Amino acid sequence: MDLVLFGMQGSGKGTQGNLIAKRHNLKTFETGAELRKLAQEDSPLGKKIKSIIEAGRLVDNEVVMEIIENFMKSIGKNDIVLFDGLPRKMEQAETFDTLMKKFGREFMGILIEISEKVAMKRLTTRRICKKCKEVYPATYKENTCAKCNSELITRNDDNVEAIIIRLQAYRNETLPVIQKYEREGKMIKINGEQAIENVDKDLEIALKHVL
Ligand SMILES: [Zn+2]
Repeated sequence: MDLVLFGMQGSGKGTQGNLIAKRHNLKTFETGAELRKLAQEDSPLGKKIKSIIEAGRLVDNEVVMEIIENFMKSIGKNDIVLFDGLPRKMEQAETFDTLMKKFGREFMGILIEISEKVAMKRLTTRRICKKCKEVYPATYKENTCAKCNSELITRNDDNVEAIIIRLQAYRNETLPVIQKYEREGKMIKINGEQAIENVDKDLEIALKHVL
């Protein structure tokens, strides 16, 4: 069964996704990474994406779905896909469900759940590496990156006003998707307000039932 990872910014979703992807040899689908990869390709879809990116436009829902469809064709029957950060809104969820059905894939949603208060605290206090973009929580006390030794900075868009807008978008657009999958019995919730190791532990226990 494929997995669809949900969680608001600051939930540690990316970190957890990387951990389980490595451990279970999952094929990760992350829209941003897939876009960058396709833009390098000399295919009709690659050219289309390249022109959208070069024009500075946002990739719309239709193109995102085209990208997923393209990706699904490359996936084997026994592969397990981890979708990260998608579907983000209701209309995407509907097309996503249709595509999954078309390719005969079943999936389970996993929500790394934190409150908006915790998200706000984590996002306003985190720092990122200027060079390699590794993210560090407030608990990391050094001033340089543990990976590349570069300076740690606060992101420009990690200010309260910008974070409120991001969290609102999540509440208005993504939360209804989560609730829909919950009603359909396709959502596992994990407490994301614990230490990384404990979130990981809970996630592993939950995955025993679906992988
Ligand atoms: Zn670094």
